[in-house]
Amino acid sequence: MITSFSQLDLIEPLQRALATEKYTQPTPIQAQAIPHLLAGRDLLGIAQTGTGKTAAFALPMLQRLVAHPMAAPRNSMRALILTPTRELATQINESFRTYGRHLGLRTAVIFGGVGQQPQVDALRRGIDILVATPGRLLDLKEQGHVKFDGLSFFVLDEADRMLDMGFIHDVRRIAGFLPKQRQSLLFSATMPPEIERLVGNLLKDPVRVEVTPASTTVERIDQRVMFVDAGNKRALLASLLKDPGISRALVFTRTKHGANRVAEGLAKGGIKTEAIHGNKSQGARQRALGDFKAGKVRVLVATDIAARGIDIDGITHVFNYDIPNIPESYVHRIGRTARAGAEGIAISFCDGSEKGFLRDIEKLTRQKLTVVAEHGFPAVHGGGQRPAPDAERGRHQPRGNHRGNNGHGQNRNQGHGKNRGHGQGHGHGHSSGQRQGGHQEGIGLIRSAQRAQ
Ligand code: AMP
Repeated sequence: MITSFSQLDLIEPLQRALATEKYTQPTPIQAQAIPHLLAGRDLLGIAQTGTGKTAAFALPMLQRLVAHPMAAPRNSMRALILTPTRELATQINESFRTYGRHLGLRTAVIFGGVGQQPQVDALRRGIDILVATPGRLLDLKEQGHVKFDGLSFFVLDEADRMLDMGFIHDVRRIAGFLPKQRQSLLFSATMPPEIERLVGNLLKDPVRVEVTPASTTVERIDQRVMFVDAGNKRALLASLLKDPGISRALVFTRTKHGANRVAEGLAKGGIKTEAIHGNKSQGARQRALGDFKAGKVRVLVATDIAARGIDIDGITHVFNYDIPNIPESYVHRIGRTARAGAEGIAISFCDGSEKGFLRDIEKLTRQKLTVVAEHGFPAVHGGGQRPAPDAERGRHQPRGNHRGNNGHGQNRNQGHGKNRGHGQGHGHGHSSGQRQGGHQEGIGLIRSAQRAQ
């Protein structure tokens, strides 16, 4: 069994980058996929975001690219990763830069909704690793700015979401342009028949790697949302933490400053709390984590970055004091509970300005959070309800529906932070229960869920 990266035959510059990221153990998909990918096999990965799948394909691709040094031909790329949204494209590109920081390879990212000239200029020089959404890439191809003759690696990421978002036709067209001699990978969280067919067309004798923990973890977590005004969040948190059933709670804030303020507020109210974030020394962070692990403090307040890699069993509750503006962060945050087969509860505090983020999260996880309407501090400003469903909403959209998309691989409604306030004012006159078929639950249910653990 592979339990450390040193067992994976990765070259030293990659190992060094992983050490900097403080990755010690490969995730299951990394352990299973990397050896096959290094050996040049095609791969079908059934896995969703949060499993570490990006590094699972990025690390072996980087290694194989440097093992065969060659200049990328002009207007072309040596490796192409297709992904459905600009957020994912940006994130994957950042991952390649992070893991490949000592390799000197050229990366670029292409998506719609922004000017194309910088993308055209970058392509002209030749790219080692290109991450793209399908619509803009096809646009540039049609204008003669892109060729695929230098390509030897192809990754289709989030294939089922491509299908949902109506991009599959674009994907097929792009695949038709690619050289036949290549290594191909396809990742999908689910395998509808259409994706099975695509696998048959795109991959040659693929290794199949399936990891489900992340999705089943997320499904096991009881996910709730409380609509509350920003100014009442601290009081709401303090009131909920009075419940002794909350034996180990991780509270996420977006900023370091926020983490300090929340921790100080709770401590003043007599609740033992520690905070960890990037401004604290390594020693202070280790101490805080140690006290939390040992049960000396019940509540740990953390920022996303500081909490990365925290793997502590027995976290009963995750509180999203702020709703993360990157939906994937939500999945990572709540995955800190329900470890090792346990149950877990995630409670998100949503103020009027955060409803767009909530919508993005529900779109990514394809799950609705349960609205807890009865709590001590119901929202007065910005409406107490969740945002109304809009044209983009829905589980499996019929194919060909571009979800309010401009048809160029760019989903405008997914910009970071741009959704602030989006959805505000929707939902007036409807109870959350009516709106979403969600349940209105009182706080009492939190207690009963607790007891069930
Ligand atoms: P992904 O599923 O690729 O979106 O990755 C999920 C998150 O896990 C990202 O924030 C990565 O930085 C992080 N990650 C990936 N692999 C590892 C690892 N082996 N150890 C710790 N964190 C990791």
